[in-house]
Amino acid sequence: MGLKYREYLEGRRIYGCSKCRSHLTTGDRILSKGFRGNNGEAYLIHNVVNVSETGEEHESIMTTGRHKIIHISCVRCGSQLGWKYTEAHDEEQKYKEGKYILERNLIRIVK
Ligand SMILES: [Zn+2]
Repeated sequence: MGLKYREYLEGRRIYGCSKCRSHLTTGDRILSKGFRGNNGEAYLIHNVVNVSETGEEHESIMTTGRHKIIHISCVRCGSQLGWKYTEAHDEEQKYKEGKYILERNLIRIVK
């Protein structure tokens, strides 16, 4: 932690880690704000930087069906931020594969 190269984003609205403000994503990468995380509101995001995958990929049963996910955390401070969908079981949920969930209360607008 702290030694890894961190990416800085450009854009009109930048979201960062609520704890250390490391850049994570931009407003135009958000696909939906209507998701739910473990602690309430969450965003579905096309691409996220400065995160590392933590733990093992595992199956999660959600209201939208079975998914395989892996948790993600901030590369700088190690805070848990959400997860990445690695596989969706149902055909209509396949669009989420490779996309990220960030919990709204764990991120904040830094610019
Ligand atoms: Zn952080």
